[in-house]
Amino acid sequence: MDKSNRPFFSNLKCRECGKLYEKKAIHVCEYDFGPLEAAYDYDAIRTSISRAAIESRPQTMWRYRELLPIDGEPTVGAQVGFTPLVKADRLAAKLGIKSLYIKNDTVNYPTLSFKDRVVSVALSRACELGFKVVACASTGNLANSVAANAAAAGLKSYVLIPADLEQGKVLGSLVYGTNVIGIHGPYDQVNRLCSEIAGKYGWGFVNVNLRPYYAEGSKTMGFEICEQLGWRIPRHTVAPMASGSLLTKIHKAYNEFVKVGIVEETKFSVHGAQATGCAPIAHAMQRGTDIVKPVPKPDTIAKSLAIGTPADGYYAIHAMRQTGGGAEDVTDDEIVDGIKLLAEHAGIFAETAGGVTVACAKKLIASGKIPRDEEAVLCITGHGLKTQEAIAGKCGELRLIKPSLREFEEQIYNPDMAATAAKS
Ligand SMILES: *Cc1c(COP(=O)(O)O)cnc(C)c1O
Ligand SMILES: [Zn+2]
Repeated sequence: MDKSNRPFFSNLKCRECGKLYEKKAIHVCEYDFGPLEAAYDYDAIRTSISRAAIESRPQTMWRYRELLPIDGEPTVGAQVGFTPLVKADRLAAKLGIKSLYIKNDTVNYPTLSFKDRVVSVALSRACELGFKVVACASTGNLANSVAANAAAAGLKSYVLIPADLEQGKVLGSLVYGTNVIGIHGPYDQVNRLCSEIAGKYGWGFVNVNLRPYYAEGSKTMGFEICEQLGWRIPRHTVAPMASGSLLTKIHKAYNEFVKVGIVEETKFSVHGAQATGCAPIAHAMQRGTDIVKPVPKPDTIAKSLAIGTPADGYYAIHAMRQTGGGAEDVTDDEIVDGIKLLAEHAGIFAETAGGVTVACAKKLIASGKIPRDEEAVLCITGHGLKTQEAIAGKCGELRLIKPSLREFEEQIYNPDMAATAAKS
C-alpha cells in the first residue's frame, strides 16, 4: 500500500522504556514488564494519507488502515465500523448542554458492540501470524465478537467468561458454535487463567498475547468521530472504562490524526465513566493519584465494565489528567436511569455500559467539568438487548386488552378523555 515500500506499521514498542520489538504475538517488555504497543512510521503515513483518500474508501473502520497494525488487507471483519454519530438535541436539552453527540456502537457489525473493532484487528493479525485457534478472556461482548468473527473466518475459538454473565451475552456466544467456558470467579481470575493457557498452548488470545494489535482497533472509534464531525476533534469525549483501553486509544487516535496532518490541533478533553460497584480508575482519579487500587469483588449490573484490576488504568488516568478530563462513577439505579434517558431522548437502546456513560456525563455536566456551553460526544458501546435483566420491570408495563375497539377506548384511549386532558 505504500509506494516507497516502507511499512507504516513498523514495530511493537514498550510504553515504558521505548524498546522496539518485532511484530510478533508478544505483549510485555522483557526488561520492565511494560505493555507493548504498536508503533508507526508517522512521517511515511503523513506523506501518503489524505482526507480525500480516506473518504474514497468503503465506510468501515478499515478506511484508516494506515494507522492500524496489520501488514496486508484485513481478512476478518472487513465490514466492521463506521457506526452513526447521532446529534442528540433532545438529550442535550435534558442534560443541559449546548451540543451533544452519541457515537452509536450499539449497532456495530456483527455483534452490536464496539468490541467488533478490536476483534477485527486482532483476528486479522492472528491470521497473518498463522494462528489456527483463537481465544479471549471476556466480560461478555468480547466473547460474542470473537465467537462470531472466528466462525465467519473458519478459526477454532475458545471464549472464557465469568460464570454469572447475562443470558444475552452467554447465548450471544454459544450460537456461533464456539467453546464457551464459564469460570467460577470474577473477570480477573478468568484473565489470569487465560494468561496461563496462552503461555502453555500458544493460542492466539486476542486480549493477552495479541493485545497490542487488539487494542489499536479502539482507535477507529476516535477516527470516525473526527471524520463524522467534519474532520475535527470534539471538545469533550466521554468513554466507559473497563480495562481503560478504549479511553486510552481514543486519546491516541486524536493525537495521531494531528500528527499525520488529518485534523488541526485543538484543545480536547477525554473523560472516563465507571460503575460505583467497580470503579478502580475513577476512584483513583478522584483521589488525585495514579495508583489504581484493585477491586477484588466487583458488584454492579454493568458487568461488561467489571474489571477489578484494569490493565490500562494507569494510562487512562494520564490521558484524562493530561487533557483536563474528569472521571465519575454511578450506582446501579443511576445506570438504569441513564439507559432510560438515552432511550427516551435519543431513541437508542444501550446496554448497562451505555447507562454508565450517560449517567456519568450527566454528572460531569452538572458539576461544570463539562461546561454547559460546550460540546460533548458520548461513546455508547453496546446494545441493550444483551442486558435485558438490568431494566426488566423498570420501564413501565405492557397493557393487555381484548381485540375490541370498546376495550381500547375504555382502557387505552378515549377521545373525550383526550380532549379534557388537552384543555387542562
Ligand atoms: C469492553 C467494553 C468497554 C470498555 O473496555 P476497555 O477494556 O476499557 O477498553 C466498554 N463498553 C462495553 C460495552 C464493553 O464491552
Ligand atoms: Zn520496557
